[in-house]
Amino acid sequence: MNTVIRTVDENNIDINVIDEAAKFLREGNMVAFPTETVYGLGADALDESASAKIYQAKGRPSDNPLIAHVCNMRQVERIVKDIPEAAIKLMKAFWPGPLTIIFNKSDVVPYGTTGGLDTVAVRMPANKIALKLIEYSDLIIAAPSANTSGRPSPTTAAHVKEDLDGRISMILDGGAVGIGIESTIVDMTTEVPMILRPGYVTRSMLEKVIGHVEIDKAILGPSGDAGSDMKPKAPGMKYKHYAPKADFKIFEGDSHSVAQKINSLAERYSSDGFKVGIIASDESIMRYENSDVVSVVSIGSRSDELSISRNLYKILRDFDAEKVDYIFGESFESQELGQAIMNRLLKAAGYQIEHV
Ligand code: AMP
Ligand code: MG
Repeated sequence: MNTVIRTVDENNIDINVIDEAAKFLREGNMVAFPTETVYGLGADALDESASAKIYQAKGRPSDNPLIAHVCNMRQVERIVKDIPEAAIKLMKAFWPGPLTIIFNKSDVVPYGTTGGLDTVAVRMPANKIALKLIEYSDLIIAAPSANTSGRPSPTTAAHVKEDLDGRISMILDGGAVGIGIESTIVDMTTEVPMILRPGYVTRSMLEKVIGHVEIDKAILGPSGDAGSDMKPKAPGMKYKHYAPKADFKIFEGDSHSVAQKINSLAERYSSDGFKVGIIASDESIMRYENSDVVSVVSIGSRSDELSISRNLYKILRDFDAEKVDYIFGESFESQELGQAIMNRLLKAAGYQIEHV
């Protein structure tokens, strides 16, 4: 299949390009498009055979449900059974935006889209290209991240091309995304709302709007093995995820000791002939020794967590491209957006973290 790639300016959208993309979607094909979180791989959410194509293109396990993307409340009402009062407050406060809400599904949503669940995940994205595409196609669009399953999520169109070129009909290139990690997921079908995946919309932001919110304990620690009572409630969170090809380990502790530990490991592994990547921050990058076989990058500034979330997956992909064998990284405060950042980093590292 030839994958058509078109550039779209979010502030001056060429409607002909949107029309071309919408046509592919209406014919049951796949189009990747930018959202404010990561790039999504879209197909008609209500067409079981269209969403089946997504699973195939990504190599995604079939029990890992897709998020349905909408552009108005009429579409929400079509796919959900009931809308709790508190969910209305959340939609008013955070949509369009990086918050996915779990509802009980209506009969029009095929089990092929929800991974066999009676619930459906719904989000109204804040990217204007995404919204135009949903509106123009007049479809509810299932769109997981547009990467091969298990790889770091795509934050540019080039990342999508790397993974899915030749497997999907079209990629809309709207430039690099603003947030860089996937949406917050909150389950509103339970008595007490529960965060199933941390993201840009934090627990305290949700609690300001609807009061007490629980957080799925499994998302902060190792999990996923069969029979474990730490099984995450968002099926997708149990898979090895966001992972670079290298062996990745995180170090926490005071900045000086962490840098000392990482430098000594980098020296040892590189002298054994391995290529080493180091994830530093703007505040610490000068503590590390760059060389031909040790590549040091800053993930962003500790005083600007958005800069960190925006760079996170790109750095992991860049290390893959450089064929790095070992990655040693600093850890970050796990409050607010930092909680989502550490959730992704720990998953990418297979929960290898050492206190120094
Ligand atoms: P992605 O779109 O690639 O970010 O993946 C979607 C995430 O949403 C996965 O972690 C899914 O497990 C989760 N998800 C989607 N639908 C549901 C649902 N009905 N209940 C719980 N989690 C869901
Ligand atoms: Mg994903």
